[in-house]
Order: sequence, then structure tokens, then C-alpha cells
Amino acid sequence: MKNTKARSIATSLAVAGALTLGVPSSPSAYAKDGSHGNDGVVGMTINLLQHRQKVSGAVVRDALRMAAAHHEQVVRERAAAAAAAAASAAAAAAEAAARAPKYARPANGVLTSGFGARWGTQHRGVDIANSVGTPIRSAADGVVVNAGPAAGFGLWVRVRHADGTITVYGHVDRLLTSTGRSVRAGDQIATMGNRGQSTGPHLHFEVWQNGVRAIDPLSWLQNQGVSI
Ligand SMILES: [Zn+2]
Repeated sequence: MKNTKARSIATSLAVAGALTLGVPSSPSAYAKDGSHGNDGVVGMTINLLQHRQKVSGAVVRDALRMAAAHHEQVVRERAAAAAAAAASAAAAAAEAAARAPKYARPANGVLTSGFGARWGTQHRGVDIANSVGTPIRSAADGVVVNAGPAAGFGLWVRVRHADGTITVYGHVDRLLTSTGRSVRAGDQIATMGNRGQSTGPHLHFEVWQNGVRAIDPLSWLQNQGVSI
């Protein structure tokens, strides 16, 4: 608004300036000579024009000051708006992080085999059965340390978590992550499959404490408030 006003004032002044330039080249000679009536009128006209020029100069300066002040205000307002947007984005991110689950169920389905002795051997995980393609999710935040073929499991994913725990997801059908990737609790990392030594579509899920000792995944999940 103010810029437009300043521009319009500037335009008027340019016109006034052009009029001023139209007067005789040595106005003071006319102004000093009071003997001639016409010269006296010319002198008065010149004085008036000079006065007008002074006033116009003041108006121009005011207009420029206003324009500069307005510009500074716009810059300040934009900076304040950008800062407010950044602050609210940061707050939203912090809120989302606080809301995000720390642990998640690795897959929905039916628990078909528990942890421990089975068929004269140790079953080092639990089996969760569902249809091929069922989402498999990282049980906690971590880094993928393996995503690929594994003997017996067909394809597997292993995720190492901040406390050193490693979770294992076996017999997967499709890998949806890769080695070295960071994952969040609940991120889908694979789909359920029937690869390797498997008698039907299921997830074989293991939890290794400090990465070296297999523990009961159900107890581990339960301790984090997650049930299968
Ligand atoms: Zn199993």
C-alpha cells in the first residue's frame, strides 16, 4: 500500500520537476529586475516554483523514508513469520517423537510356537502365523545389520537396537529394507513368507540380549508393554 502511494507521489514530483525545468534558464535575472511588470510576475512564478520544488523535495524524502520503513517492517514481519514456522515445526517434530511408540508388535497373527524346547531341540524364537504378505515391523528403533538370504530362514532381517539387543525376523517373503538402514519401532521392514525350512507362512522372531543370548521374545515384548 505504502509503496504504491510513494510511487504515485514520485510520479507527481517528476511532473512538477519537468514543469520547473520549463522556466527560463536564468530566473534570478528576471526576479531582480522589478522595472518590468511581466518580469516581476515571472520572478514571483519562479519563486513559487522554487518553493514548490523545496516542498516537493521534502515530500519525496518523506515518501522515501516511508517506503524504507515499510520495507524494513516487511522484512521484520517475514523473519518473524519464518521463525514462528520453524519453532512450530520443531515443536510438532518433538511432539511426534514423544508420541511415537518405543516398541511395536513385529507382526499380527497367531502364536503357533513358543520359545524353548521343541522336538528335542531349542526353538530360539517364537512363530507368528498369518498369510503371506502380512507386514513385518521392526520391534524397536535400530539399525538393520542384515537383510538378505540366511540358511534355514530363506530370507531374514536382523536389527540392532540402541541397548545392544538384536531382533531377528526369519522366513520373510519380501525385504522392504536393506543393511545399514535406520528403522523406527513399527516401521515395516519385510512381508511374511514361507521361505527356508518352514511348514507354512509365518514369522520366526528372535530376540538376542546384547546380541549374544537368545531370550524369550514374548517376555521381552511384554516388558515393553507389547503383547502378541
Ligand atoms: Zn520358528
